[in-house]
Amino acid sequence: MIATTNEVDLEVFRRYAGLSLPRHVSYPMPSWWHEMNAEEAAALFQDSHRQTPGYDLSLYLHIPYCETLCKFCACNRVIQRKASRGAAENTERYVLALMRDIRATAATVEGKRTLRQIHWGGGSPSYLSIDQIQRIEHTILDSFELAADAEIAMEIDPRTVGPEELRQLRELGFNRISFGVQDFDKQVQEHVRRVQPYEMVRDVVAACRDLRFDSVNFDLIYGLPYQTVETVRNTVRAALALSPNRVAFYHYAQIPERIATQRGIDHTKLPDSETKLAMFLLALRLFEEAGYQFVGLDHFARPDESLARALKAGTLQRNFQGMSTGGDLRLLGVGVSAITHLLDVGFLQNVKGVEDYVTRIEAGRSPVERGKRLSRDDCIRQALLNELYCTARIQPENLEKRFDIRFVDYFADELDTLRELESDGLVTVDESGGVRVTHPLGRILMRNVAAVFDAYLDPTAYRNGQPACFSTNA
Ligand code: SF4
Repeated sequence: MIATTNEVDLEVFRRYAGLSLPRHVSYPMPSWWHEMNAEEAAALFQDSHRQTPGYDLSLYLHIPYCETLCKFCACNRVIQRKASRGAAENTERYVLALMRDIRATAATVEGKRTLRQIHWGGGSPSYLSIDQIQRIEHTILDSFELAADAEIAMEIDPRTVGPEELRQLRELGFNRISFGVQDFDKQVQEHVRRVQPYEMVRDVVAACRDLRFDSVNFDLIYGLPYQTVETVRNTVRAALALSPNRVAFYHYAQIPERIATQRGIDHTKLPDSETKLAMFLLALRLFEEAGYQFVGLDHFARPDESLARALKAGTLQRNFQGMSTGGDLRLLGVGVSAITHLLDVGFLQNVKGVEDYVTRIEAGRSPVERGKRLSRDDCIRQALLNELYCTARIQPENLEKRFDIRFVDYFADELDTLRELESDGLVTVDESGGVRVTHPLGRILMRNVAAVFDAYLDPTAYRNGQPACFSTNA
């Protein structure tokens, strides 16, 4: 098979690609949030109870530590060699603070609520010892009810986890494992300082299968230095040979002015915009030919995987974990920089520095630093963007029923703007205002379509980009 960009109009692609636009992992994006004190945060929780008294929960835990630094990393993490002086004490202090945070957060949501998802992210959660993971898990189980079919997921660094650790995690109830694979090419791995041979990943995946984890997920990245269409083809084929249940195929955003560690990346070796387009189109074809379903902006799932099932059931959501199931759940975030999302009420985010976080918790103070109370317009647009990113469609009747609006009146200006995108082949719009994003051009430029509905952006951002604060779209 030959990688080609023939499937899209390159002239149109060039006009819309490479702009600085939000990825809408929240609406409004965190750059529009403001400082928030403990009283304001508590008021958001009270409003959430009033609005939906019996809500169920998803819990996100942020473990910031990693042994070594990957040059492309844009996560909130702390590089700390386990063998370094003070590392064990620092980590244990963080674990104790996190356990206190879990108990305090559970008390804030009033009554023992049901957890339907637990997601451990980072950093590298597998940096912690099994004993520490077990103590945190017990704190969660003491503080919440756990649904019998709860999804319990952890992001794993395959360089630091072997069959024995996986067996212990399985015994603790973990049923979904997510690996940062990124790329299998040696030269790419060496340049970004993330060296993990194929055989290493293969063996860890085999151990997961033996232990009957429900879902094994890979994160891959395209747009890294030294990647070519050919190396990406090899990586995707190698990944497919291991049959991951779900793959996130992320676009690498080089923003060294904001992420200092990326300054170590040789920018002269980065693939250009059209090469990245060819990489994405190739991967899209390979995944679809292998029977994977294209989900949202950049995820692929086997039809029996929970993400594909959530898409079918209408319970898929776009959030800080990318695409996620459980669209009706309130997301509680614990740990440094973790984000809480109280559906149709607001967002809260904890402080970003580990020392600041731990000190606040030890002093019995709230770790919340900033947030955003949602207006009615925010809620309407958030629901619209969620549907757009998840299903590549906007069905006016869904919003009209939920928010008691007349879609074509409420979004008259946006529908006007969409005519330009329609004539460029990114979308089709029907008489009732229903929008379908085209495949593949519109899906690739989804962020441009979404920007039309973002009231915090300049109205021409979809074709001119937004200054400074967002990563580029292709
Ligand atoms: S392991 Fe993940 S979080 Fe840690 S430095 Fe690498 S990419 Fe970043």
